Amino acid sequence: MPVLEVLDTGSLVRTPCQNLAVVRNASTIDRTHVVLDPGHGGIESGSVTADGLAEKDVNLDVAMIAEELLSEQGFVVTLTRYTDVRIPIVSRVEIADSLNALLLVSIHHQGTDPDVPRSDAPGTEVYYQQNSEESKRFAGLLHEESVVKLGQFDIESWFAGPDAGATYRQNRNTGEDFYGMVRRPAAPAVLAEMSFLGNPEEVELLRSPEFLRAEAEAISDAVIRWFTTDDAGSGFVEPSFTLLSSGGGGGLGGCVDPDLGETADIPAALLEAFGES
Ligand SMILES: [Zn+2]
Repeated sequence: MPVLEVLDTGSLVRTPCQNLAVVRNASTIDRTHVVLDPGHGGIESGSVTADGLAEKDVNLDVAMIAEELLSEQGFVVTLTRYTDVRIPIVSRVEIADSLNALLLVSIHHQGTDPDVPRSDAPGTEVYYQQNSEESKRFAGLLHEESVVKLGQFDIESWFAGPDAGATYRQNRNTGEDFYGMVRRPAAPAVLAEMSFLGNPEEVELLRSPEFLRAEAEAISDAVIRWFTTDDAGSGFVEPSFTLLSSGGGGGLGGCVDPDLGETADIPAALLEAFGES
């Protein structure tokens, strides 16, 4: 949670539901290189397969392995969630912004549309910020690494839609980037649909630790290349369509804060200064 003030009694924070709280005994992080954002969480499962594999869990598994791989290489990595908790998009973005993250990667897996065209190569989709060259470059690197790392797994056919590659998605009304996790962060950010929960063959792979690790390696190797090289990436494609609104959750409605541990009273002056948003 973003820390607004450090008090004698604890840390004044903005909670995931955008409330104020003074948390005692908080451990604080003051810098990070990369924020990894495991999509969905809590009551927002994301896609779920017929046999019960939930996107939110796959996203978190991959993020945690990627964190480990990057930490081994000396990168400071922060996740927007470490547990199965629902966090609104604005609060995820605040975590990255308040840490002055240099890069944000939102990790997702595509849902269950059975009409997606088939391909002999992985159909990873990476959405970048249309006005950021560095976001675009990272998207190209992540797509490139994904095709290599996931392509090592031999299956009959991958799902690959028209957005397979590095691309962007616009809100047709505003012309802005469509996804909140791409539009809102101050840092270069992408949203990646790593593979397809709608494809039984890919689901089979997603149940294996080896494949989850391959996805995490694609992310960590793309991050390392983005930081350490000028490589341009590849796989850029024109956006296939624009959307009006997501309706995909991630708002503040019905938000329930997780257990914050021991808390203290919020001084009245601070309550006024920071307000309830
Ligand atoms: Zn998702």
